[in-house]
Amino acid sequence: MQANRSREWQIWQDQLLLCQACVLCQTRTRIVCGNGNAKASIVLLGEAPGKQEDLSGIPFCGQAGKILDDFLAATGIQKETLYIGNTVKCRPVAVSKKGSGFVNRKPQKKEQQACKPWLAQELFLLDPQVIVTLGAVPLSHFIQKAPKMSQWHGRPFDYLPSYISEQNEKKKWLIFPLYHPAALIYDRKKVVDYQTDLYLLAQILREKELL
Ligand code: SF4
Repeated sequence: MQANRSREWQIWQDQLLLCQACVLCQTRTRIVCGNGNAKASIVLLGEAPGKQEDLSGIPFCGQAGKILDDFLAATGIQKETLYIGNTVKCRPVAVSKKGSGFVNRKPQKKEQQACKPWLAQELFLLDPQVIVTLGAVPLSHFIQKAPKMSQWHGRPFDYLPSYISEQNEKKKWLIFPLYHPAALIYDRKKVVDYQTDLYLLAQILREKELL
């Protein structure tokens, strides 16, 4: 069983690394696979790789690493018990207005759609208990319409993956939506909301005995 799962992970990764399903394959340096404990009960899901992640192939490094460190410090989650990944696996870029080079941008809908099967398979292999989403892009993987984060943040909900029957309640994933930390930079109210949400998340994780 264990050997089968390892093989499935290997196949997933080998195939992902060849992906050219959207235009982001033309500008990426590396595809950024998820990273961390493949048996994790908690998954942290970001939007898409930034510059440093694109260069290193490691999620949540560079500037995003600070987001991860703050998240771990605020919730008390041990990094070794977590799996981290992005919704879109290649860095979305736009030409810099300063003249040369690229800057990060939000992934477009069609890019998110193209990458959806990779994330679906990744989560199937992980089968976590709790998925923490950072911002609207990862949250939109679990709900039909484009979410307004002001309405969704800090409101956890159950999600039943389509391959699991409704009778199997235990297999539901708890989705916990957070603001994307970049949204907090100029908005003090969102900072307070974000801290409150992290407090609630830690409380839920303790109740589930995941901390
Ligand atoms: S972003 Fe996703 S779908 Fe697009 S090329 Fe990269 S791995 Fe493939």
